[in-house]
Amino acid sequence: MTQIETFQKHEMPPTADVIVIGGGPAGTAALWAIERLAPGTRTVLIEKSDHLGAGSSVASLENFRTCWPSLCMARQMQRSVEVFHHADEYLGEGAAQAIALKQQGYLFCAFTESQASALKADVAHLHRMGLSHIEYLDADEVAYRYGWLGRRVIAAKYDPVAGWLDSNGLVHCYARCAQSARILFGIHDVRLCVEKGRVTGVQTADGVISAPRVLIAAGAGSVGVAQTAGLRLPVVLRPRQSFTTGWRHEAFPEHAPMLIGAAPFPHVRPEARTGAIFGWEYTWRSKRAASSAVSNQAGDALLEPLYPVEQLKDARFPSITLSLLARQFGHHDGEGFASPRYLSSLRHNIGYYVYRDGSVAYRTDAEGRQRPYDSERAIIDGWPGVEGLFVSVAHVGHGIMSSPAAGEIAASKVLGQPLLDPIFSQFGLDVPWVEHDENAL
Ligand SMILES: Cc1cc2nc3c(=O)[nH]c(=O)nc-3n(C[C@H](O)[C@H](O)[C@H](O)COP(=O)(O)OP(=O)(O)OC[C@H]3O[C@@H](n4cnc5c(N)ncnc54)[C@H](O)[C@@H]3O)c2cc1C
Repeated sequence: MTQIETFQKHEMPPTADVIVIGGGPAGTAALWAIERLAPGTRTVLIEKSDHLGAGSSVASLENFRTCWPSLCMARQMQRSVEVFHHADEYLGEGAAQAIALKQQGYLFCAFTESQASALKADVAHLHRMGLSHIEYLDADEVAYRYGWLGRRVIAAKYDPVAGWLDSNGLVHCYARCAQSARILFGIHDVRLCVEKGRVTGVQTADGVISAPRVLIAAGAGSVGVAQTAGLRLPVVLRPRQSFTTGWRHEAFPEHAPMLIGAAPFPHVRPEARTGAIFGWEYTWRSKRAASSAVSNQAGDALLEPLYPVEQLKDARFPSITLSLLARQFGHHDGEGFASPRYLSSLRHNIGYYVYRDGSVAYRTDAEGRQRPYDSERAIIDGWPGVEGLFVSVAHVGHGIMSSPAAGEIAASKVLGQPLLDPIFSQFGLDVPWVEHDENAL
């Protein structure tokens, strides 16, 4: 596999066909997809850090799954998984090894009859959508397949195509494939240049690049980039945490699927040979942030990122996540997820989930009032009123798994070509609601 060609700041080209801002999954995937769709396009990727994938993907569980209840998300994942499954073909020789795909499945667990009924209804819905590979498992089947889980789990929803991969490997594969691109690291103070309603390039601390098309794909950092042109991205940010342990209790095997508990959905999967990685998407609220101007009205999200994001870590997060899992799976003091060994050598991570805000994610009720909801859909679209400006943001908690399709959607928009699947237009800014687009866990 070829190496990524990187350039020094003083090698910043004066012009480009397309500038991509941000070297995370969204930006690098767009670079890859632009090269595939229009080989030879002179693309420049600008990254503020000294390496790729320096944003939320650092904290990620690196999981992927296919069981999405809204059609546009399901198709986005289906396309993305196709790319993962044929990595060498789509992402260059050696990519399959670099992304190290593990397909051990996702097991959503039910501990009560009402949770079991909800999973059953969910599976029926997914089957109606054509996702017939998703299985509903009753108590006997769970016990037969996963005896090590114990008898507390009385039913489950199983996604056998789900798994996890190496996200760092993935972003580097994208970058390597983009042979016509220049990737510039350590570029600060990126400002959009807009004249007479159209983008003309970017200005940075190291010089100006003129280009007729610019894609903002800088995760939470996108908010500040847009502000440089007086634009407000319709997104909110929620800090999300994870932690990795070097140890895993004996009854939780290396071949286990990703386990998702019942509400409030703590989750965990094996990591490496002996460890585990945990997550939990709790309702985030911070008194400190709520009193500041950067919080939304409800105080449960930020309007602008606070950096470093580490200041928003909650030290109780690992122990609360473990005790939720221990309680749900019936582990008593010292055993299973209740073992103190989990807390002894853990790495605690944090990053931002970026969501659509209520101005681009709402239902309209019978009285004509707009009812905002937490959408799972990214925004991948041209920016209205500024010709040549595009965004690929709001990838919430699935920006790695959905990145191949997200990159292709972004490339189609930037290059003015038809979308691979017409349903991908639902990632547009002007689509405030689609069915089943919320509360995916
Ligand atoms: C705890 C946690 C768990 C997660 N688990 C999963 C999971 O299991 N599966 C999954 O698919 N997703 C998961 N995610 C979500 C996933 O990490 C994000 O959706 C994804 O990283 C978003 O990609 P992005 O490229 O939009 O942004 P980011 O990954 O944040 O990348 C943005 C890039 O832009 C750069 N940048 C920022 N500002 C600027 C600027 N002004 N100029 C230039 N460059 C800039 C950053 O340095 C960074 O490299 C998780 C996230 C978290 C926090």
